Amino acid sequence: MSFLKDLFSIFKKRELLFLESYKESDDVYTFLFEKEKDLTWNAGQYGLFSITHKSIKNATKPFSLASASTENVVKITTRISDDPSDFKKAMLELKQGMKIKMSGPVGAFYLQENSPSLLIAGGIGITPFRSIVKQIEAEKNGDEKQIHLLYMDTRKSYLYKDELDGIANHTSISVTYLDSRNDLEQKIDKFTALYKDNGKYFIAGPKSMVESVSTYLQSNHISKRNIKKDAFFGY
Ligand SMILES: Cc1cc2nc3c(=O)[nH]c(=O)nc-3n(C[C@H](O)[C@H](O)[C@H](O)COP(=O)(O)OP(=O)(O)OC[C@H]3O[C@@H](n4cnc5c(N)ncnc54)[C@H](O)[C@@H]3O)c2cc1C
Repeated sequence: MSFLKDLFSIFKKRELLFLESYKESDDVYTFLFEKEKDLTWNAGQYGLFSITHKSIKNATKPFSLASASTENVVKITTRISDDPSDFKKAMLELKQGMKIKMSGPVGAFYLQENSPSLLIAGGIGITPFRSIVKQIEAEKNGDEKQIHLLYMDTRKSYLYKDELDGIANHTSISVTYLDSRNDLEQKIDKFTALYKDNGKYFIAGPKSMVESVSTYLQSNHISKRNIKKDAFFGY
Protein backbone atom coordinates (compact mmCIF):
# COMPACT_ATOMS: atom_id res chain seq x y z
CA MET A 1 0.00 0.00 0.00
CA SER A 2 2.72 2.45 0.94
CA PHE A 3 4.41 1.65 -2.40
CA LEU A 4 1.25 2.67 -4.29
CA LYS A 5 0.92 5.79 -2.16
CA ASP A 6 4.55 6.68 -2.99
CA LEU A 7 3.95 6.09 -6.69
CA PHE A 8 0.94 8.39 -6.63
CA SER A 9 2.89 11.00 -4.67
CA ILE A 10 5.89 10.91 -7.01
CA PHE A 11 3.71 11.96 -9.93
CA LYS A 12 2.23 14.81 -7.97
CA LYS A 13 4.64 17.67 -8.61
CA ARG A 14 4.01 21.00 -7.00
CA GLU A 15 5.76 24.34 -7.05
CA LEU A 16 7.00 25.64 -3.74
CA LEU A 17 7.69 29.31 -3.12
CA PHE A 18 11.16 29.99 -1.74
CA LEU A 19 11.06 32.03 1.47
CA GLU A 20 14.60 32.26 2.82
CA SER A 21 17.86 30.47 3.44
CA TYR A 22 20.41 30.73 6.23
CA LYS A 23 23.58 29.10 7.44
CA GLU A 24 23.36 26.48 10.17
CA SER A 25 27.15 26.15 10.36
CA ASP A 26 30.23 26.79 8.19
CA ASP A 27 29.10 24.66 5.26
CA VAL A 28 25.53 23.73 6.10
CA TYR A 29 22.53 25.70 4.86
CA THR A 30 18.82 25.55 5.57
CA PHE A 31 16.26 26.47 2.89
CA LEU A 32 12.66 27.32 3.73
CA PHE A 33 9.72 27.09 1.35
CA GLU A 34 6.05 27.94 1.72
CA LYS A 35 3.92 24.93 2.66
CA GLU A 36 0.58 24.71 0.92
CA LYS A 37 -2.33 23.63 3.14
CA ASP A 38 -2.91 20.35 1.32
CA LEU A 39 0.74 19.29 1.56
CA THR A 40 1.32 17.00 4.53
CA TRP A 41 3.83 14.27 5.24
CA ASN A 42 4.77 11.67 7.80
CA ALA A 43 7.71 13.02 9.79
CA GLY A 44 10.85 11.37 8.37
CA GLN A 45 9.73 11.24 4.72
CA TYR A 46 11.56 12.98 1.89
CA GLY A 47 10.72 14.94 -1.24
CA LEU A 48 12.26 15.04 -4.70
CA PHE A 49 13.30 18.63 -5.31
CA SER A 50 13.88 20.05 -8.80
CA ILE A 51 15.63 23.24 -9.85
CA THR A 52 13.43 25.14 -12.33
CA HIS A 53 14.97 28.63 -12.66
CA LYS A 54 17.76 27.41 -14.94
CA SER A 55 18.70 24.37 -16.93
CA ILE A 56 21.22 22.07 -15.22
CA LYS A 57 22.20 18.42 -15.38
CA ASN A 58 20.84 16.31 -12.50
CA ALA A 59 18.23 18.93 -11.70
CA THR A 60 16.36 16.68 -9.24
CA LYS A 61 17.65 15.42 -5.88
CA PRO A 62 16.03 13.83 -2.84
CA PHE A 63 16.05 15.71 0.47
CA SER A 64 14.51 14.75 3.78
CA LEU A 65 11.81 17.11 4.95
CA ALA A 66 13.51 18.44 8.08
CA SER A 67 10.39 20.19 9.35
CA ALA A 68 7.27 18.50 10.67
CA SER A 69 3.99 19.15 8.80
CA THR A 70 2.74 20.96 11.90
CA GLU A 71 5.42 23.66 11.50
CA ASN A 72 3.69 24.94 8.35
CA VAL A 73 6.89 25.35 6.40
CA VAL A 74 8.97 23.05 4.18
CA LYS A 75 12.51 22.95 5.50
CA ILE A 76 15.50 21.24 3.93
CA THR A 77 19.05 21.35 5.25
CA THR A 78 22.10 20.45 3.22
CA ARG A 79 25.88 20.56 3.23
CA ILE A 80 27.39 22.79 0.51
CA SER A 81 31.13 22.47 -0.03
CA ASP A 82 33.54 25.08 -1.48
CA ASP A 83 33.24 23.29 -4.80
CA PRO A 84 29.49 22.68 -5.01
CA SER A 85 27.55 20.70 -7.58
CA ASP A 86 25.46 22.65 -10.12
CA PHE A 87 22.37 21.70 -8.14
CA LYS A 88 23.69 23.30 -4.96
CA LYS A 89 25.00 26.36 -6.82
CA ALA A 90 21.45 26.81 -8.12
CA MET A 91 20.06 26.44 -4.60
CA LEU A 92 22.31 29.25 -3.41
CA GLU A 93 20.95 31.50 -6.19
CA LEU A 94 17.36 31.23 -4.94
CA LYS A 95 15.84 34.58 -4.03
CA GLN A 96 12.57 35.37 -2.29
CA GLY A 97 9.63 34.74 -4.62
CA MET A 98 11.44 32.20 -6.80
CA LYS A 99 10.11 28.66 -7.03
CA ILE A 100 11.38 25.12 -6.86
CA LYS A 101 9.44 21.94 -7.71
CA MET A 102 8.83 19.15 -5.26
CA SER A 103 7.30 15.74 -5.77
CA GLY A 104 6.40 13.50 -2.90
CA PRO A 105 6.39 13.13 0.05
CA VAL A 106 7.77 9.62 -0.28
CA GLY A 107 9.44 6.92 1.77
CA ALA A 108 8.72 4.65 4.71
CA PHE A 109 11.26 6.22 7.07
CA TYR A 110 8.83 7.16 9.83
CA LEU A 111 7.65 5.81 13.18
CA GLN A 112 4.66 3.55 12.75
CA GLU A 113 4.26 1.93 16.13
CA ASN A 114 4.83 2.73 19.75
CA SER A 115 7.79 0.33 19.99
CA PRO A 116 10.96 1.60 21.67
CA SER A 117 12.96 3.22 18.91
CA LEU A 118 16.63 3.98 18.45
CA LEU A 119 17.26 6.81 15.99
CA ILE A 120 20.85 6.88 14.73
CA ALA A 121 22.05 9.95 12.82
CA GLY A 122 25.39 10.40 11.10
CA GLY A 123 26.21 14.08 10.38
CA ILE A 124 23.73 15.59 7.92
CA GLY A 125 21.56 12.49 8.49
CA ILE A 126 19.99 14.34 11.42
CA THR A 127 17.47 15.97 9.01
CA PRO A 128 14.68 13.33 9.06
CA PHE A 129 15.08 12.95 12.83
CA ARG A 130 14.54 16.66 13.43
CA SER A 131 11.18 16.24 11.74
CA ILE A 132 10.34 13.12 13.73
CA VAL A 133 11.10 14.61 17.16
CA LYS A 134 9.38 17.90 16.25
CA GLN A 135 6.26 15.93 15.29
CA ILE A 136 6.29 14.02 18.58
CA GLU A 137 6.71 17.28 20.47
CA ALA A 138 3.74 18.80 18.61
CA GLU A 139 1.56 15.77 19.31
CA LYS A 140 2.43 16.16 23.00
CA ASN A 141 2.73 12.39 23.42
CA GLY A 142 6.48 12.36 23.90
CA ASP A 143 6.08 11.10 27.45
CA GLU A 144 4.66 7.80 26.32
CA LYS A 145 7.34 6.99 23.78
CA GLN A 146 10.70 5.34 24.37
CA ILE A 147 12.81 7.21 21.86
CA HIS A 148 16.56 7.55 21.94
CA LEU A 149 18.39 9.69 19.43
CA LEU A 150 22.10 9.04 18.94
CA TYR A 151 23.68 11.82 16.93
CA MET A 152 27.18 11.11 15.72
CA ASP A 153 29.37 13.72 14.07
CA THR A 154 33.14 13.30 14.07
CA ARG A 155 33.51 17.08 13.57
CA LYS A 156 31.27 17.74 16.60
CA SER A 157 29.26 20.14 14.50
CA TYR A 158 25.80 19.27 15.78
CA LEU A 159 22.98 20.83 13.77
CA TYR A 160 19.76 21.98 15.49
CA LYS A 161 21.44 21.36 18.87
CA ASP A 162 19.47 23.99 20.83
CA GLU A 163 16.18 22.74 19.45
CA LEU A 164 17.01 19.10 20.12
CA ASP A 165 18.09 19.89 23.67
CA GLY A 166 14.86 21.83 24.22
CA ILE A 167 12.76 18.88 23.07
CA ALA A 168 14.78 16.44 25.21
CA ASN A 169 14.14 18.71 28.22
CA HIS A 170 10.37 18.48 28.12
CA THR A 171 9.68 15.07 26.59
CA SER A 172 10.96 11.57 27.34
CA ILE A 173 13.02 11.63 24.15
CA SER A 174 16.72 11.40 24.95
CA VAL A 175 19.44 12.89 22.76
CA THR A 176 23.08 11.78 22.98
CA TYR A 177 25.83 13.54 21.04
CA LEU A 178 28.75 11.36 20.00
CA ASP A 179 31.93 11.87 18.02
CA SER A 180 33.42 8.40 17.72
CA ARG A 181 32.34 5.12 16.27
CA ASN A 182 33.40 3.33 19.43
CA ASP A 183 31.08 5.42 21.61
CA LEU A 184 28.27 4.97 19.12
CA GLU A 185 28.60 1.20 19.25
CA GLN A 186 28.58 1.26 23.06
CA LYS A 187 25.31 3.22 23.07
CA ILE A 188 23.82 0.89 20.47
CA ASP A 189 24.84 -2.11 22.61
CA LYS A 190 23.07 -0.58 25.61
CA PHE A 191 19.83 -0.22 23.68
CA THR A 192 20.00 -3.65 22.02
CA ALA A 193 20.70 -5.28 25.40
CA LEU A 194 17.49 -3.72 26.75
CA TYR A 195 15.10 -4.07 23.85
CA LYS A 196 16.74 -6.65 21.58
CA ASP A 197 14.69 -7.38 18.47
CA ASN A 198 11.59 -5.78 20.00
CA GLY A 199 12.91 -2.33 19.24
CA LYS A 200 12.86 -0.42 15.97
CA TYR A 201 16.09 0.94 14.55
CA PHE A 202 16.32 3.94 12.21
CA ILE A 203 19.61 4.95 10.59
CA ALA A 204 20.18 8.06 8.44
CA GLY A 205 23.37 9.58 7.07
CA PRO A 206 26.07 9.01 4.46
CA LYS A 207 25.58 5.68 2.67
CA SER A 208 28.78 4.06 4.03
CA MET A 209 27.87 4.93 7.62
CA VAL A 210 24.29 3.67 7.23
CA GLU A 211 25.44 0.37 5.75
CA SER A 212 28.08 -0.24 8.40
CA VAL A 213 25.72 0.56 11.31
CA SER A 214 23.10 -1.72 9.77
CA THR A 215 25.64 -4.55 9.52
CA TYR A 216 26.62 -3.92 13.14
CA LEU A 217 22.98 -4.13 14.27
CA GLN A 218 22.46 -7.36 12.36
CA SER A 219 25.58 -8.83 13.96
CA ASN A 220 23.85 -7.95 17.28
CA HIS A 221 20.89 -10.17 16.22
CA ILE A 222 18.60 -7.36 15.11
CA SER A 223 16.54 -8.53 12.17
CA LYS A 224 16.49 -6.60 8.93
CA ARG A 225 12.73 -5.99 9.21
CA ASN A 226 13.35 -3.88 12.34
CA ILE A 227 15.99 -1.69 10.67
CA LYS A 228 14.95 1.26 8.51
CA LYS A 229 17.58 3.09 6.50
CA ASP A 230 17.86 6.47 4.78
CA ALA A 231 21.18 6.35 2.93
CA PHE A 232 22.32 9.73 1.60
CA PHE A 233 24.56 9.38 -1.45
CA GLY A 234 26.94 12.17 -2.53
CA TYR A 235 28.70 12.22 0.88
C1 LIG B 1 16.19 9.60 1.06
C2 LIG B 1 17.29 10.63 0.93
C3 LIG B 1 17.26 11.76 1.71
C4 LIG B 1 18.28 12.70 1.63
N1 LIG B 1 18.25 13.81 2.44
C5 LIG B 1 19.26 14.68 2.40
C6 LIG B 1 19.27 15.80 3.30
O1 LIG B 1 18.37 16.01 4.11
N2 LIG B 1 20.33 16.65 3.22
C7 LIG B 1 21.35 16.47 2.32
O2 LIG B 1 22.28 17.27 2.31
N3 LIG B 1 21.36 15.42 1.49
C8 LIG B 1 20.34 14.53 1.49
N4 LIG B 1 20.35 13.48 0.63
C9 LIG B 1 21.43 13.39 -0.37
C10 LIG B 1 21.17 14.40 -1.49
O3 LIG B 1 20.14 13.96 -2.34
C11 LIG B 1 22.42 14.62 -2.34
O4 LIG B 1 22.81 13.41 -2.94
C12 LIG B 1 23.59 15.15 -1.51
O5 LIG B 1 23.18 16.31 -0.82
C13 LIG B 1 24.77 15.49 -2.38
O6 LIG B 1 24.38 16.46 -3.33
P1 LIG B 1 25.41 17.15 -4.30
O7 LIG B 1 24.62 17.94 -5.27
O8 LIG B 1 26.45 17.85 -3.50
O9 LIG B 1 25.98 15.79 -4.87
P2 LIG B 1 26.79 15.34 -6.06
O10 LIG B 1 26.27 15.91 -7.33
O11 LIG B 1 26.83 13.85 -5.89
O12 LIG B 1 28.16 15.97 -5.73
C14 LIG B 1 29.01 15.47 -4.72
C15 LIG B 1 30.25 16.34 -4.74
O13 LIG B 1 30.87 16.21 -6.04
C16 LIG B 1 31.36 17.45 -6.48
N5 LIG B 1 30.62 17.91 -7.69
C17 LIG B 1 29.51 17.39 -8.24
N6 LIG B 1 29.12 18.06 -9.34
C18 LIG B 1 30.02 19.06 -9.49
C19 LIG B 1 30.19 20.11 -10.45
N7 LIG B 1 29.35 20.25 -11.49
N8 LIG B 1 31.22 20.96 -10.29
C20 LIG B 1 32.09 20.80 -9.27
N9 LIG B 1 32.00 19.84 -8.35
C21 LIG B 1 31.00 18.97 -8.44
C22 LIG B 1 31.14 18.43 -5.37
O14 LIG B 1 32.29 18.50 -4.56
C23 LIG B 1 29.99 17.85 -4.59
O15 LIG B 1 29.98 18.27 -3.24
C24 LIG B 1 19.34 12.52 0.70
C25 LIG B 1 19.35 11.38 -0.13
C26 LIG B 1 18.34 10.45 -0.01
C27 LIG B 1 18.38 9.24 -0.90
